[in-house]
Amino acid sequence: MLRDKHYDLLVIGGGNAALCAALTAREQGASVLVCEHAPRALRGGNSRHTRNLRCSHDAPTDVLTENYSEEEYFEDLLRVTGGVTNEKLARMTIHESKFVTPWMYERGVRFQPSLGGTLSLSRTNAFFLGGGKALVNAYFAEAEKKGVEVVYDTEVVSLDIEEGFFKGAEVRYHGFPDYVRAKALVVASGGFQGNIEWLTEAWGPSAANFIIRGTPFNKGLMLRDLLAKGAEPNGDPTQCHAVAIDARAPKFDGGIVTRLDCVPFSIVVNNKAERFYDEGEDVWPKRYAIWGRLVAQQPDQIAYAIIDTKCLKLFMPSVFPPIEGRTIEELAGKLELDPAKLSKTVKGFNAAVQPGSFDPSGLDGSRTEGLEPAKTNWARKLDEPPYYAYPLRPGVTFTYLGVTVDEKARIQMADGKPSANMLAAGEIMAGNILGQGYLAGLGMTIGTVFGRIAGQEAARYVNR
Ligand SMILES: Cc1cc2nc3c(=O)[nH]c(=O)nc-3n(C[C@H](O)[C@H](O)[C@H](O)COP(=O)(O)OP(=O)(O)OC[C@H]3O[C@@H](n4cnc5c(N)ncnc54)[C@H](O)[C@@H]3O)c2cc1C
Repeated sequence: MLRDKHYDLLVIGGGNAALCAALTAREQGASVLVCEHAPRALRGGNSRHTRNLRCSHDAPTDVLTENYSEEEYFEDLLRVTGGVTNEKLARMTIHESKFVTPWMYERGVRFQPSLGGTLSLSRTNAFFLGGGKALVNAYFAEAEKKGVEVVYDTEVVSLDIEEGFFKGAEVRYHGFPDYVRAKALVVASGGFQGNIEWLTEAWGPSAANFIIRGTPFNKGLMLRDLLAKGAEPNGDPTQCHAVAIDARAPKFDGGIVTRLDCVPFSIVVNNKAERFYDEGEDVWPKRYAIWGRLVAQQPDQIAYAIIDTKCLKLFMPSVFPPIEGRTIEELAGKLELDPAKLSKTVKGFNAAVQPGSFDPSGLDGSRTEGLEPAKTNWARKLDEPPYYAYPLRPGVTFTYLGVTVDEKARIQMADGKPSANMLAAGEIMAGNILGQGYLAGLGMTIGTVFGRIAGQEAARYVNR
């Protein structure tokens, strides 16, 4: 029974942010309980699907090339968010990102040189050897070694908060009601993307067709509870990171392998067999995050990327094989699209393709003329059968609505004061920095930096 014990710190969540907070607080002498809703086999939240984090550095490191200044990092952030960021918190996170990899290394995380493929991140992002699962496993092993108590299958269902002060939490411990008493709280329970009802409130009925790329356990229960009990909200419920993924992916937890990178070399049609956006607008790393929203705006939230044989080897393949047709009409039949309409769309596209020199490694200006919407790069006729298609659906990575925090990770209450003993880290507060758009690797940076700050602050509070 948990109700018989008394902890210094309760950490809610079992992902990167939670574990960084738990380790930091424990290393400073606090007794720590981590409540993870998932069973042990599925522990680690969205963090276990990750591959890298974005770090500023002044000179090449063992895994990062050249340099990446704090100023350039901040400018990259400004560009993707359109300025919707808390500059103070953003600059602090970027500065702290310089120091995270040695800290991670000391706690068992190993790195490897950047992966290739369509995202060129060797200068900016440190890749985890073995991916996010290895990172999470290293942190759990370290936490257990250092005496952090971890309980799985334990959902925190309600927080006892009095005037912005945390008293305890009601939990379901292996399905049974229980209670946790602690002097301080770190909430690191992720976004609310696992809660389709809440997504529907924000997005309308189309949310039923969204696929959630990560854990089903991030349902936003703690976020809702905190907001209902006086925490200051931060961000817009309709803002999220969403990419186009293979429509055959499972509803939850498909992870990275369901992402599709073929869009720039394809034409993309909706279920009326019509194109709706310039597939060649920019290089894929700069455009991949807009395609989730674009597909979400199409009828029934479905689209199809269509290529011919010569494009098949130009991108990282999905875990699912493409759907194949010897003719465009046969392919249309397999996709349940109108064959005559798809054939007309492809013929119209082929007729509009201008002569050009195709170069998959950069913007090549190979374009269409007189077609709406235009394809402005990598436009080549679809004329080498067999033809292939990948079905696309919006794949939500994580939502941005969260709680407002200060530079000590303290949750701000609606009365304008910071809570004395409630802190937040990770996805649940990432919107303070990432108000819209996305910068690859920033999610893990925010979680690591704020997890450590939250752990320090919690320890400082209980040791005071
Ligand atoms: C497929 C995929 C790939 C990604 N790749 C990258 C990448 O390479 N780099 C990057 O920076 N970001 C990446 N991200 C985003 C990244 O995963 C998140 O930004 C980061 O993991 C958030 O960490 P977190 O600790 O806040 O949340 P999570 O890791 O999601 O952890 C939340 C935890 O809270 C638990 N929980 C939720 N509610 C409760 C409750 N009521 N009670 C108890 N426990 C609860 C969950 O079970 C979970 O363990 C990716 C995301 C996905 C889905």
